[in-house]
Formats: sequence, structure tokens, C-alpha cells
Amino acid sequence: MKETPKEKKIHQNLMPGQLSIDGFLGADKRQYTDIISADQAELDKLDLTAKMIADRLEYFTEAAFESYAGSIVIDEKYEVDYDSFRGKLICPFGHSGVYRKGLITLKNLENSIEICWTPLNIHLIREHCFFEGKGSIHRLEPASLGKAIF
Ligand SMILES: [Zn+2]
Repeated sequence: MKETPKEKKIHQNLMPGQLSIDGFLGADKRQYTDIISADQAELDKLDLTAKMIADRLEYFTEAAFESYAGSIVIDEKYEVDYDSFRGKLICPFGHSGVYRKGLITLKNLENSIEICWTPLNIHLIREHCFFEGKGSIHRLEPASLGKAIF
């Protein structure tokens, strides 16, 4: 299907070197709209919603951000570490507003599954159901998220 001008602009923003050095698509050759649809279907299968995941990631992010003490254990089950970086990122889908740069790492102490995400990931999941393209460094797999954070 042909991209609308708005989709074309978003697609450009997702490419490497536009809003971030690595971009958001990795090696994924699909249209971003197809990536979103596929992940939406995956979430349905897992009986999860983008909002449930975003709420959970935000919960851990806030708790770790406020700890100021390296990694912390939350709810006796999740070891979470927040690394801050200077700078801000903006939403590639054209929302106004900026997102802190940072990397949050979580290890589920029961099953040892580890994942990491950025504050922008949370926005992209909540508002756009966008988990990034396959091979993108901040790609999050819904199935791994399901096992790690619930
Ligand atoms: Zn947005």
C-alpha cells in the first residue's frame, strides 16, 4: 500500500540518523504499520494490552529513578537498574514533548529473564503500540515482556 505523506514522514523519522543514531527499525523491512499490527496480534494472543505493558514499565521506571542507589529490588521479584544519560528524545510519530534519555534494565529474579527499555519505549508502546522493528537495539518482544514484568 502507498504511504500517505504523514506516514512517509513518520517512516523517515524511524530511519537511522534522523531522531536517533540507530533508528527504530533495525533490520526490519516491513512498513512500520505492519510491525504495529503484528505486535498487536501478538499481544492479543498473550492476552495483554499495550497499556498494561506501558503501565508496568512506567511503574518500574519511576521506582528505579527515585532510588538514586544503583539497582534496587522491587516487590521482592524484580531487580531494576536505571542508567541516566544526558539529552532528550522526541517521538518519531510527531507528538510534542520530550523523553529523558536513559536505560532501564530489569531482571526477573524468579525466571532470570532480563529486559531493558528507555523512557521513549514506554511512550511508543502506550500511544502507538510500537515495540520497534526486529533487530532494533531497543526492540522489545511482547512475549519476553509478558514473562519478565508480570
Ligand atoms: Zn508519540
